[in-house]
Parts: sequence; structure tokens; C-alpha cells
Amino acid sequence: MASVSFRGVEKQFGRFKVIHGISFDIQDGEFVVLVGPSGCGKSTLLRMLAGLEPITGGEIDIDRRVVNELDSKDRDIAMVFQSYALYPHMTVRDNMAFSLKLRKADTKLTAQRVDNAARILNLTQLLDRYPRELSGGQRQRVAMGRAIVRDPKVFLFDEPLSNLDAKLRVAMRAEIKALHQRLKTTTVYVTHDQIEAMTMADRIVVMHDGLVEQIGTPLELFDRPGNLFVAQFIGSPS
Ligand code: ADP
Ligand code: MG
Repeated sequence: MASVSFRGVEKQFGRFKVIHGISFDIQDGEFVVLVGPSGCGKSTLLRMLAGLEPITGGEIDIDRRVVNELDSKDRDIAMVFQSYALYPHMTVRDNMAFSLKLRKADTKLTAQRVDNAARILNLTQLLDRYPRELSGGQRQRVAMGRAIVRDPKVFLFDEPLSNLDAKLRVAMRAEIKALHQRLKTTTVYVTHDQIEAMTMADRIVVMHDGLVEQIGTPLELFDRPGNLFVAQFIGSPS
């Protein structure tokens, strides 16, 4: 678990600034949702936190330590993507064990972690299958399993449910929330879907054009939207 601080974070791609100075804190164990229209900079902010994209201004702290110069593999963060990115030639078990093997973890510990994650995610019966033999929801759970086995300080999700049909999406929201209640790992979850944000977040960060418009609990944003953009975004059907 960990706290995360963004302090005046900026991002410039060539001549184009896409993040214009973002500051906020995430508490240890909190489930924070970044929400905002497509192109507002959600993925870029997440990728800077993960170390997949250089920070061009300001700083990001994890547990009060500046991570700007820290390599992504040394940040102890696990990310779940929309596209799952499972290895097609590996079984579910090997997909889940892979990142630990890369880090040269003990074989017995790796097996324990995989079994444990499989139990939590209801994947025990599927450990010897290949990704092509799984449904969309099962693949998504394997992608989460790969993140869990590493027991990271922070989980990042970038629109993890957008490839799933509406019914499954609702079910997976509940699964992800249940997982968080169980593990209490600090989580930053990105979506463009305000319903998803309202139902999942401890606190919501509303972004627009590379800036934060408002931060608050779902109830606070619903009751007291800080400006017209937030009111329209939160109030509009997805
Ligand atoms: P979101 O995830 O909210 O949809 P992104 O973070 O992907 O938004 O993108 C924010 C802005 O940065 C967009 O205008 C996008 O075109 C731009 N952008 C993202 N990645 C790159 C890149 N590698 N090079 C140039 N511009 C980029
Ligand atoms: Mg994105």
C-alpha cells in the first residue's frame, strides 16, 4: 500500500502541452477514479505515474519519495490495461507467473502467489487453459491476476472494462471493488464513464483539457458540482 502525490505535474509532447500542472494527493488504500472526456489526459497521467512516460514538469511522489527518475520496474506498481495484453502462447498459470519469473522470484513463492490469486479471482479451474479458450470476462480476470501476484504498492487500471459488453461490465465493476475491499491496495482507476466513476470511487478526480476541474467523493460531486463542466459531465448519461 502507498500514498501518491502529484505536485504541479505537467506533460509536453514536443511543442504540445497536454497536462498543465496537476496537483492532488491519494491516501494509502484509497480507490481514486480519474474521469473525463476522451483526450483530456487521463492515460498520460497514469502512464507518468507508472513510469511509462517521462514527466516534463513537477513531480510525482510515492510514499513521499520522488519517483520522477525511478525506472518503471522499480516503482512497485502494477497496471491493468483495456487490451489485457495476455501472452497468447502461455497458459493462464504462466501468464500470471511471468512477471514474478522475470523478477527471479522463488519458484515455490511464485506458485503460492498464483494459486492464491487464482482462488481470489475464481480462476482455479482455468489455470491450464490458454487465453484464446477464455471469455472476455475471464481474460480480464487473468489480467488482474497478473497484477495481484506481484503484490504491488499501487494498482493502476486504464479503462479496463471498455472492451466488455454492458452486462459484464457491471459485474466486473463489482468484482474489482470486492477485490479492493479485500486487498486494500491503493488504486488509481481511469474511465471516461461517469457512472463507472460514481459507483466505484472513494474519490473522483474530474479532468478536462489537461487540468483537474474538481476532486471529491461521488456524493460531493453530485450534490455540489464546482462548475458547469462538472455538473454537465456528472449529470449526463453515458
Ligand atoms: P485520455 O486517456 O484522457 O483519452 P490521453 O492521455 O491519451 O487522453 O491523451 C491526452 C492528449 O495527449 C491527447 O490530446 C493526445 O492526443 C495527446 N497524446 C497522447 N499521447 C501522445 C503521444 N505519444 N504523442 C503526442 N501526443 C500524445
Ligand atoms: Mg486513455
